Amino acid sequence: MVKETIRVYARVKPVGRRQQAGSYSVENEEHLPSLEITVPRDLADGFINNKQESYKFKFEKIFDQEAKQDVIFDSIAKPVAECVLSGYNGTIFAYGQTGSGKTFTITGGAERYSDRGIIPRTLSYIFDQLQKDSSKMYTTHVSYLEIYNECGYDLLDPRHEASRMEDLPKVTIMEDSDQNIHLKNLSLLQATNEEEALNLLFLGDTNRMIAETPMNQASSRSHCIFTIYISSKEPGSATIRCSKLHLVDLAGSERVAKTGIGGRLLTEAKYINLSLHYLEQVIIALAEKNRSHIPYRNSMMTSVLRDSLGGNCMTTMIATLAMDKRNIDESISTCRFAQRVALIRNEAVLNEEIDPRLMIVQLKKEIRDLKDELALVTGKQRMSELSQEELLQLDELIQTFLKDRDPDSSLDVGADMRKIKYCFVHMKQIINHPMTSGKKLFSQDISEEKKHNEELGKLKGLLQQRDNEINILVTMLEKEKKKARGALSQLNTTYADSTVLKQCPSMNLEESQSPSRYFSLEEAKVFSSSIPRLPFLSRATGEKLSLRCQEAFEVFKQDHADSITIEDNKQLLKQRFDEAKCLGEKLNEVRNKINHLKGKIIQRQIQRAALAVSNPSEELTFDLVEENLRMQIEEEKKSYKRVYSCFKGLKVEIEHLQLLMEKLKMKVQKDFEVWWSEEAKKPQQEKPEMITSPNTATVYPQFIRSSQHLSSNSFSDFNKDSSYEDPAVKTNSITFGNPTSKIRILPSSSTSIPLTGDSQADADILAFIKARQNILQKKGLGNK
Ligand code: ADP
Ligand code: MG
Repeated sequence: MVKETIRVYARVKPVGRRQQAGSYSVENEEHLPSLEITVPRDLADGFINNKQESYKFKFEKIFDQEAKQDVIFDSIAKPVAECVLSGYNGTIFAYGQTGSGKTFTITGGAERYSDRGIIPRTLSYIFDQLQKDSSKMYTTHVSYLEIYNECGYDLLDPRHEASRMEDLPKVTIMEDSDQNIHLKNLSLLQATNEEEALNLLFLGDTNRMIAETPMNQASSRSHCIFTIYISSKEPGSATIRCSKLHLVDLAGSERVAKTGIGGRLLTEAKYINLSLHYLEQVIIALAEKNRSHIPYRNSMMTSVLRDSLGGNCMTTMIATLAMDKRNIDESISTCRFAQRVALIRNEAVLNEEIDPRLMIVQLKKEIRDLKDELALVTGKQRMSELSQEELLQLDELIQTFLKDRDPDSSLDVGADMRKIKYCFVHMKQIINHPMTSGKKLFSQDISEEKKHNEELGKLKGLLQQRDNEINILVTMLEKEKKKARGALSQLNTTYADSTVLKQCPSMNLEESQSPSRYFSLEEAKVFSSSIPRLPFLSRATGEKLSLRCQEAFEVFKQDHADSITIEDNKQLLKQRFDEAKCLGEKLNEVRNKINHLKGKIIQRQIQRAALAVSNPSEELTFDLVEENLRMQIEEEKKSYKRVYSCFKGLKVEIEHLQLLMEKLKMKVQKDFEVWWSEEAKKPQQEKPEMITSPNTATVYPQFIRSSQHLSSNSFSDFNKDSSYEDPAVKTNSITFGNPTSKIRILPSSSTSIPLTGDSQADADILAFIKARQNILQKKGLGNK
């Protein structure tokens, strides 16, 4: 058992160039790191005074603006991951206002490989450690849950083409009679290696992004919980260790009053504030000594994290702080919350359980062994049923016994429960049907009836006596059986009580109830590869619209801010590929060298053996040349290992970069969808005006002529294509403007619009051009 308080860290987000930094100082002393925030006093009252109010907060450690992601992982997440690997539960949660860097810390930035956050780094670390430990068998699963307005959604659902959060499967909480929490509908997917786990994380993040619309900035208003479940077992042992690690990205902690929102957003904000409020209540209750009731049930989040906040868990909190002047008061309230959390004391215990299936196997084996032993002692093989021959023998014995008038006579069938039971049944039949079964017994002279009755009484007494004897025998025999049964039933109750096992991936309640919820990783992969799509475009919008839409998208993606990042990443990826290729060649080279050296050694050995045969007097002595060759091989092996580990690292980086690119491309696609659908909603009457507008633009006929249907193909082209070509660039008719800005602008005056003749299609084209101009003008880039 490990007893300690919740570790609370602070991370300060870099202050933006245009932001005014608030006044704070960090003292990262060995024992008492503290963060001091200073704010002008009475500023709100309108009169100026020079007094300052300062607040000092203590943390386990404070990471200032320049702290990098690898340092955060090493200091905060690695110790928790180590505990989880040894069988304890762990939780890391990020708390802070929107924009303070919670997602950046937990998941990572979407641009650079070095920006990857705690989740991908933890997965990498855990799988690395599991691979190194061959003494145990490990199973790893992951789940990804989003809680929005008190509803849970399964982010790892690969079957849904979710374009709204409501399309994702709803996760509900069920509580059993022992007050254990079960999450119904939450997918637990097995990941056998880092790559599979990262793919699942990517799938979840993509679902999270797609489900978010500008109207519903779910990421700042929802809580996301990524959970890694690890179970381990030593070969041959019935004990399994199950542990889980929750990585929690909480909703923004900002207060409602400050944000000044209303209506639907206010409802959301109330929900969030309420759930964070309940989280705080739970935390206060946990920090209080002698408090028996902890109000976990008030919100979904506290229910889910029930066994991971207080009690049996290694819990860590990261308070993310934005230290620019505007946000300093929110940062102070985040720090206050952190101080309360730091008071909670947790006792983490190992989650060990006995696997009932393995126990049954062990007990069966024991029974087999005992039977063999019995057969050895009695010299007879014991079957479960009595043979026909044995039954006849028993009938005879019973008849003889009943006929025998000697009160001392006994019925001896040996210490065999089956025979004893049979005798009882048989006697019962005789007593119940004296006229049929016991004809011979009762066909005596009626005058002797009295005597007979006496004998019957005696017999009954005898029977009673035998009964007692048999009972003693039965008790003795049952004793051993009971022991085994006891163990088994104890096992079942422990199993039923166990929270850990129920939430353990291999034993999940849901699993047994609805196996169809568990799909293979293959399916997940198929899904993630099918993600590049424009769902609303492919949805029955008609071919013409799709064609125009595709063209519009081509232009849109060029203008999108992320296209620069995509380009950069593409370059980086290419560079990494080249590096990987180089390393691959190097590896081959080293391998060839080793083989060559090995060949040399063999040659040398053959030569020396031949020499020994032709000249037997000469003794085979230590060969310096061979030793030299061996040393060279060792050196080469070392260098092979070195290069190989670089190669492996590079592979992970390349995979990560590819996922990042996918994510960015998806984002562009989504932004486009939102923009396009907004354009589609604009009133029709604007359109005729545009034909006479001086800002009319050239429209390329291929908009309409192109027969290529907008489908996932065109977007996978977008994904693959590195040239990123714009039809506008080709025609030179629509693209000009600042060549360095990467923003392309519509021409200010244009000759003609080669329209299609289809009035609806033409109107759509013009609406698109008009809208695009509006945007550019808003950005200050459009033509005047
Ligand atoms: P939150 O999840 O708390 O709302 P985000 O993690 O989305 O905030 O961060 C907001 C923005 O600030 C993102 O663009 C993110 O990349 C950036 N950011 C946050 N923390 C850091 C950091 N430590 N270093 C660099 N950029 C950061
Ligand atoms: Mg966020």
